Amino acid sequence: MLETLRKIVQEVNAAADLESVLDVIVRRVQRAIRTDVCSIYLLDRQRERYMLMATQGLNQKSVGRVSLSVDEGIVGLVGQRAEPINLEDAATHSAFTYLKGTGEKKFHAFLGVPIIHHRTLLGVLVVQQKLIRKFDESEEAFMVTMSAQLAGVIAHAEATGSILQISDHTKNEADRKFEGVSGCIGVAIGPAVVMTPLADLDGVPDRKVDDIKAEVATFKRALAQVRRDIKRVGRSLAKRLRSEERELFDVYIRMLDDNALGGEIIARIKAGSWAQGALKQVIGEHVQQFSMMDDPYLRERATDIKDLGRRMLTFLQESGPSLSEIVFPENTILVADELTPAMLGEVPTEKLVGLISVHGSGNSHAAILARSMGIPTLMGVVDLPYTRVEGLNVILDGYSGRAFINPSDDLIQCYQEVIREEDEVNAGLEGLKELPAETTDGYRMPLWVNTGLIADVARALDRGAEGIGLYRTEIPFMIRDFFPSEQDQMETYRKQLEAFAPRPVTMRTLDIGGDKPLSYFPIKEDNPFLGWRGIRVTLDHPEIFLVQIRAMLRAAEGLDNLRIMLPMVTSVREVDESKRLIAQAVEGLREEGHNITQPLIGVMIEVPAAVYQVRRFARRVDFISVGSNDLTQYLLAVDRNNPRVADLYVPYHPAVLKALQFIVLEAHKENVSVSICGEMAADPAGAILLMAMGYDVLSMNATNLPKVKFALRGISFERAKALLSEIIVIGDADKIQAALSSRLKEMGLGQLTQPTMPD
Ligand code: PEP
Ligand code: MG
Repeated sequence: MLETLRKIVQEVNAAADLESVLDVIVRRVQRAIRTDVCSIYLLDRQRERYMLMATQGLNQKSVGRVSLSVDEGIVGLVGQRAEPINLEDAATHSAFTYLKGTGEKKFHAFLGVPIIHHRTLLGVLVVQQKLIRKFDESEEAFMVTMSAQLAGVIAHAEATGSILQISDHTKNEADRKFEGVSGCIGVAIGPAVVMTPLADLDGVPDRKVDDIKAEVATFKRALAQVRRDIKRVGRSLAKRLRSEERELFDVYIRMLDDNALGGEIIARIKAGSWAQGALKQVIGEHVQQFSMMDDPYLRERATDIKDLGRRMLTFLQESGPSLSEIVFPENTILVADELTPAMLGEVPTEKLVGLISVHGSGNSHAAILARSMGIPTLMGVVDLPYTRVEGLNVILDGYSGRAFINPSDDLIQCYQEVIREEDEVNAGLEGLKELPAETTDGYRMPLWVNTGLIADVARALDRGAEGIGLYRTEIPFMIRDFFPSEQDQMETYRKQLEAFAPRPVTMRTLDIGGDKPLSYFPIKEDNPFLGWRGIRVTLDHPEIFLVQIRAMLRAAEGLDNLRIMLPMVTSVREVDESKRLIAQAVEGLREEGHNITQPLIGVMIEVPAAVYQVRRFARRVDFISVGSNDLTQYLLAVDRNNPRVADLYVPYHPAVLKALQFIVLEAHKENVSVSICGEMAADPAGAILLMAMGYDVLSMNATNLPKVKFALRGISFERAKALLSEIIVIGDADKIQAALSSRLKEMGLGQLTQPTMPD
């Protein structure tokens, strides 16, 4: 059964559109369990009806014509109860409705299972048989497994189907939307530009070409280079290979001939596709054919074809324009399968208005960077067929986490109104720069910023930041091809320290691992967020840690505004070891004649183990800073990078609020100052609660700083404390969120969180 299941899923995955997906399912399932009928009813949400969308065994003419209301028939019952219904003779059931024109009268046995994707009912998968018998347990188990596996593919195909309809630039009346999670609030409207990592065949977007002759020539050049490359590899390995293995290289070369793969690809280019897209299609089809074969040897050949495809793609990409040569249109909305910090640097900032990532979530580091740059961003738009949206117009709604592809003029107008409203609010905040973040009863709250790029510094100063509470030093490491030298690092750090002097600058030691990989220092783990991350990596590599600390200390020479902060600490031993290494670096530099002042040293509280040791840490360090992004993920056991569980990642969870309050009280018992540098501090409501809890400093992205300042200046400290007392006793995150929104509205701060959005 497992093998049958694997094959069906594979075939379904490769189907081109929704119709073919459904067709493959009904044919294959009918055959697999040797039954008379297999049908799929999909739920049409607008009409509240199940439509018969595909069948094997019922009258084909009824497909697309026959439908039932949501509370009608046994199909309706399966949907309502969200569980399988298995009947010996359906006609004897009280809910039975005969569907005219389908020819189902002669069938008795009935088994229907719901098709559910992420809690959403998509439809019902049904098998029927002439005999009066109950489907047995293994058949029922097969159907449930099949339906669970296919739900995602159907959801994706439904979404893709609507893209196919609109990619010929006709307007979509229903304003087809794709759901994701917000990475950075704000609205953007503009054409999509798809960016893919190099040599990723699956990610190649569909594009049309005008100059077919030139495209064929480009492809032929790439083909010639691949041929030469394969011959070279074959020659260099000749002595080490057996003759049958050597022959494989000849097979490869033959596959590239004009009457084989090469010819097929050229035909697609002549039909108007660009070379990379044609390559993707042809290779995809061949890989599909080979992987369906029963013979394991032939099945393996799919890998060879894929490899060949990747090689050709590499040459095509090398011969094509480099990213820096691509002319980005005005108002570019950058779309990627997995947005990386490096990609953000590729598009000229004056052209970039929005970002969409199929993977990742609002707490991924790419999203955090986007927020610091103030670019509306959507993450985890998992159903978006991103390779097919190149050049299409997009509305990106960073408030509700939705994207509309090729939207109607009416919708564009509504969102243009939202953009105008946003501009008004921002213009109203501009005068705040020189004013302190002081409550109406005179309580002063220092507002610092989080930085990573050098561009952040100017923005931060422009918005009146009083210090840097978190400089993510891994960002300059991530946008390079190798570890920066001590001198390189020193120069980069100096810019941050100098720009802010005499105000404090908190530099976090390298925090790689998790979702922050370095291409030149790969870490492959099954559970990266529970693995080798942050301080664990750098203490295992004192040579990397010491170079970084020396660079920081040298950069602060004469400025003396450096604070060093340790990420992902879980035990006192890590703090002691780090302090020993920092002392070693200070001493070493002094011996070399540098004039080094002892920096302040702090730890981040990011994991539950650290929460319960705050006092111990506080006795050893100069300051504590809470990383609420990671703390939320580890307290709630929700991967901050996983869009599937993004709705469970709730910073206003009662457990998170309790932990945040506990940390401040504990640290203050040791008279140590506590700041917070997680994203919660950048939310006006979060900032009010944190101030009331007693946090000494709030550090946030520069984009949100004026909004937070406006909120704090609009409330008294006493009122903030009363709000906290009200909120901290609520036991449900949704109720907390609702109470916060309504209180903020009452205080006249509602417009800070969200403008008036279209319905
Ligand atoms: C945090 O975890 O809250 C934090 C500030 O660090 P980062 O988001 O870089 O992991
Ligand atoms: Mg962190």
